[in-house]
Amino acid sequence: MANRMPREIAPGVFWIGDCLAQRHKGKIYHGYNAAFLVAGETASCLVETGHPKDFPVIERHMNELFARGVAPLKYLFVTHQETPHCGGLGRVLKTFPDAILCGDVSDYHLAFPQYEHRMRWMQEGDEIDLGGRSLLAVEPVIRDLRTTWWGFDTRERVLFPGDGFAYSHYHQDGHCGLVAEEAVSLDLPDVSAVFADLALFWTKFADMDAYCDRLDHLIERLGVKTIAPTHGLPITDVKATVPKVQAGLKAAALVPESSTNEKVPLTGAGVPAPAA
Ligand SMILES: [Zn+2]
Ligand SMILES: [Zn+2]
Repeated sequence: MANRMPREIAPGVFWIGDCLAQRHKGKIYHGYNAAFLVAGETASCLVETGHPKDFPVIERHMNELFARGVAPLKYLFVTHQETPHCGGLGRVLKTFPDAILCGDVSDYHLAFPQYEHRMRWMQEGDEIDLGGRSLLAVEPVIRDLRTTWWGFDTRERVLFPGDGFAYSHYHQDGHCGLVAEEAVSLDLPDVSAVFADLALFWTKFADMDAYCDRLDHLIERLGVKTIAPTHGLPITDVKATVPKVQAGLKAAALVPESSTNEKVPLTGAGVPAPAA
């Protein structure tokens, strides 16, 4: 299923990683915990690390790109401290000893004190120079951790929105490795609503019209040409596709949460009780 990867979604921006299958209400949803390699003239930056299970795939994809002459890995930018985004961080820093971790680097030193000297704070407006292009930290409009930053490639105007534009795809329809506009049978408002329901619980209690307006403002201000979400398929026609994702976010906000987990009685410690 990963045979379309690494896929160049904009010049010098490579989509890498693999799908993750999840069961929900009798259906199998495929989602991505993707990573992206942004290649400059002198350095490359890995954006996100993929799910921990994906590290062998991500490492293989990166090595394929380096063998093709892509500039060496000098930076790792992760949008936030959640497993599908940063779960391979320790292995990336170990495997690529020149790589510097960038972003809001809160707490990572607690897990990896040996790499604390390779962690560099970024705030909105800070840039990583890759030679001929930069990765800029920008406003994280849709996020579930306070520490989130989104990334933006200044040369090809690619937005890396972490948990923004999150939606699953249909494996049976051959969507794996396609961009959103190629996955013609994908019901984008529906899969966006399902993802918001399961993973972005706070959207039930927020005015999503205001968040969608803010997204439009950010896209307009930056002149975004391509969107490279961690969980959704990449968006190459911003004007046509973004409104469909926004429709899903707005629809999901209007209905009660459908419950994330199977109904299993919990013990006091939040651990499923053993079957009686
Ligand atoms: Zn996420
Ligand atoms: Zn898939």
